Amino acid sequence: MTIRICHLYPDALNLYGDRGNVLCMQKRLLWRGIRCEVDSLKIGETKSLSGYDIFFMGGGQDFEQEVLLRDLGSQNGQSIRTAIEDGKTFLCICGGYQILGTHYETKEGRRCGFLGAIDLYTTGGDKRLIGNYAYRLEEPSGTETVVGFENHSGRTYLGKGVKPLGHVLKGFGNNGKDGTEGVRYKNVFGTYSHGPVLPKNPVLCDRILSTAIHHKYGEEELLPLEDAFETAAHAKMLHRICKS
Ligand code: GLN
Repeated sequence: MTIRICHLYPDALNLYGDRGNVLCMQKRLLWRGIRCEVDSLKIGETKSLSGYDIFFMGGGQDFEQEVLLRDLGSQNGQSIRTAIEDGKTFLCICGGYQILGTHYETKEGRRCGFLGAIDLYTTGGDKRLIGNYAYRLEEPSGTETVVGFENHSGRTYLGKGVKPLGHVLKGFGNNGKDGTEGVRYKNVFGTYSHGPVLPKNPVLCDRILSTAIHHKYGEEELLPLEDAFETAAHAKMLHRICKS
């Protein structure tokens, strides 16, 4: 069994060590004896994306997101939309999550089109939404808690019928108003959680890996790993965030 991961735009979207999510997925596959190949798509490159099983896109400043717009308007944008509709697994963080939506509207009212892959949009805000935060996954993504760190000026709103990844326990989430965090659309997991998010949320990491394995190989169960340390770190952060 081999899982192929494509890191999208590591040269532009990689805030707060987000690439650590790729390392975490790779390790948790290798520890189970599952071969994992990691590749990347950089700005200006064009390649077929059909052979990958998991796509990762990290966070970025407004400027980096705008630099990407031309690339997303090329064949690469269509390839990403096709991969999403084909049920490929995605983990997209903050700016990389926002980019999946229809558009971004700055606080001055300037509107730029994004990928249009998922019915959501983002509006720029004055006050940045920053801090450690926690949320609880919602089905079909699970019911477990997730701890993370958010730092975004964008407020994201989900279209009708578009499921959030979870609901906020403490912190801001998508927009600091409707209690939603992230998005789950087909096999796309979008979240504002930097950090990287996966090492201290092993359940979410394995859920994402299982999604990709099931899509490619059918119902293959992931063997459990010895996660005492990760679970303790998660519990410690959850307590610190929720009691603060
Ligand atoms: N530039 C976007 C915003 O500020 C995303 C930031 C990020 O990826 N941390 O909302």
